[in-house]
Amino acid sequence: MASDIRSDAGFNTTAVHAGQEPDPLTGAVIPPIYQTSTFVQDGINVLRAGHEYSRGSNPTRNGFEVQLAALEHGHSGFAFASGLAAEDALLRALLRPGDHIVLGGDGYGGTNRLISQLLEPWGVSHTAVDITSPGDVRAAVRPGETALLWLETPSNPLLQIADIAQWAAAAHDAGALLTVDNTFASPYLQRPLDLGADLVVHSTTKYIGGHSDVLGGAVITSDRSFRGRGLSEAIGYQQFAGGAVAGPQDCYLAARGLKTLGLRMERHCSNAQALAHWLQAQPGVASVLYPGLPDHPGHELAARQMSGFGGIVSLRFTGGEAAARAFAESTRLFALSVSLGGVESLVCYCSEMTHASVRGTALAVPTDLVRLSVGVEDLPDLRADLETGLAAARAAAPDASAPGTGAPGAGAPGPRLWLSSV
Ligand code: PLP
Repeated sequence: MASDIRSDAGFNTTAVHAGQEPDPLTGAVIPPIYQTSTFVQDGINVLRAGHEYSRGSNPTRNGFEVQLAALEHGHSGFAFASGLAAEDALLRALLRPGDHIVLGGDGYGGTNRLISQLLEPWGVSHTAVDITSPGDVRAAVRPGETALLWLETPSNPLLQIADIAQWAAAAHDAGALLTVDNTFASPYLQRPLDLGADLVVHSTTKYIGGHSDVLGGAVITSDRSFRGRGLSEAIGYQQFAGGAVAGPQDCYLAARGLKTLGLRMERHCSNAQALAHWLQAQPGVASVLYPGLPDHPGHELAARQMSGFGGIVSLRFTGGEAAARAFAESTRLFALSVSLGGVESLVCYCSEMTHASVRGTALAVPTDLVRLSVGVEDLPDLRADLETGLAAARAAAPDASAPGTGAPGAGAPGPRLWLSSV
């Protein structure tokens, strides 16, 4: 489906209109949800609008794919049933047995699980690296063997910032590709393809859907080729032949959410910035991880590479694991939950929730850390809720003057690959 939005249209204009043209048949301003598995043919293989069967193409899905690709400045977009389904499709479309991946070490635990548990048995190896060290990244690349570099920035949950252009150069010098998981920033704050990345993945479950009511994922391709095939052709064929597509209802919800992404991100960013600042001064807080803080090691790079600092704030407690757990179980507006990016605020105890699959490994998340997904509620209410959590954290601390006990992996029970379903 083509879009007639001007290529120089602003972000919000593109978000509202690209791929979302009124229905030509009825004039409905909102394109209908094409809840159909198959399309009638006017003769054998004579298709009315190019649609045959919804695994191959569906107008609601195609509209969302056009909308998202336009916002990421991509060549094509492909919508999948979840973020992990999108990642899986990308990896299986492009990799072969014997290939090697350089994987950003601080990232979504499920990506690591997908690569280490599902891909390694098929002969794909990986090396995890410190995303902030260009030297480490280059040292990990094996020319002739490394086919893909995989980066998440800002990272999850430590909010580290990596230089996308430097990662892209390291990939391209070795004939490899760079994929960036842009879930945390969203295309409103960061466009990895403009910075040299070859592919972008999203969990559209997060900021793109934006209302915690839909699961989805997407791959957005540049116009480059790899191993003699266009990236769009390779991912498109994998989507069709592998079949992990997003359904029409889910695409409708994601497309509706995407229309207000810019408005929501503005509010997520301003709330997060204010809370991060305020949290730094609170007793019991050992450190606040937020790239918008001037003393964050990645602040200057984030200011250059992004147009805002995002809605995720992580914090660590002087009272260690006990304080972090008490905090996470005490807030109310910040609901204890996995996931992020919705209008409602969430708190996550990552070491045993989102990142349970890397506990006990070198990639383990500190046990004194909680991650906040700051929503769009009113700031004074959010601050009051955090005050409740901080009071609980101070009360639970073994000794308020004791140093934090949350070194990465501390207290970890060893690898538990299936503790959590996320
Ligand atoms: N990428 C990131 C950064 C995530 O946070 C997540 C999920 O939390 C995923 C990918 C996986 O997405 P999904 O849960 O939609 O499969």
